[in-house]
Amino acid sequence: MRTTRFDDLTREELARLAPGATVVVPIGSIEQHGPHLPVCADTEIITHVARSAVELAAETASVLVTPTLPFGLAQHHLPFGGTISFSSKVYLDLLTEIGTSLVNDGFQRILFLNGHGGNVSAAAMVADRLAYEYRLDAHIAAASYWECGADSLAKLDLDGAPAPGHAGSFETSCLLALRPELVHTDRIPPAEGELQPLAEQSAFTSTVRLPEVWQRSDGRTDDSHSASTELGHIALKMIIADVAEFIVRFHRT
Ligand SMILES: [Zn+2]
Repeated sequence: MRTTRFDDLTREELARLAPGATVVVPIGSIEQHGPHLPVCADTEIITHVARSAVELAAETASVLVTPTLPFGLAQHHLPFGGTISFSSKVYLDLLTEIGTSLVNDGFQRILFLNGHGGNVSAAAMVADRLAYEYRLDAHIAAASYWECGADSLAKLDLDGAPAPGHAGSFETSCLLALRPELVHTDRIPPAEGELQPLAEQSAFTSTVRLPEVWQRSDGRTDDSHSASTELGHIALKMIIADVAEFIVRFHRT
């Protein structure tokens, strides 16, 4: 069976595939996820989604997936501990250099597939930077899995919890499906009945930021009372199908 893993191939194989292939770069984050989830949550989810979606997309298109960049922009989680973050300047440069390397390798379609809220702005900006400032002759895209899977996520029965949110019902479900041995269900904080202050960050269509807003919460957006393994499997399956469809559409652009 043909591999879809960029890092399993030789330089000659990659040179042969590059001009006609889409390459997906999963970007994650290592950051605190409350008292009950491992700090690898975002990286674990995006790695699984990216690899599975690329497998699916590869049935109809030439697609490869690089190793996941495990660290991202998580400055807002640093006060809680259990977090490794780049500064915004370093992170943007890092994504830029991954992009320029791939174009140097001969790829003309690059998709940064994001799995962490803090990376959204940088991922969008790197696409602008590579296209408009660097004027690279390539199609560069940036998307988060919850954007590709927005319609599916809206159908999930999360009892009002945000999806993906942070360290709440949605992510706990995904981790129960992917790495149950890392979920400490006995340490899930009791349900508070209302969303944490993190859900109040945006007013209308503007983006409002306040340095201490995350510390007014306990580092989660919602409690995990509607989390289940089954919900995690259902959510991941739908998201993977949506992301695969997006990859194929981007590939044909
Ligand atoms: Zn997360």
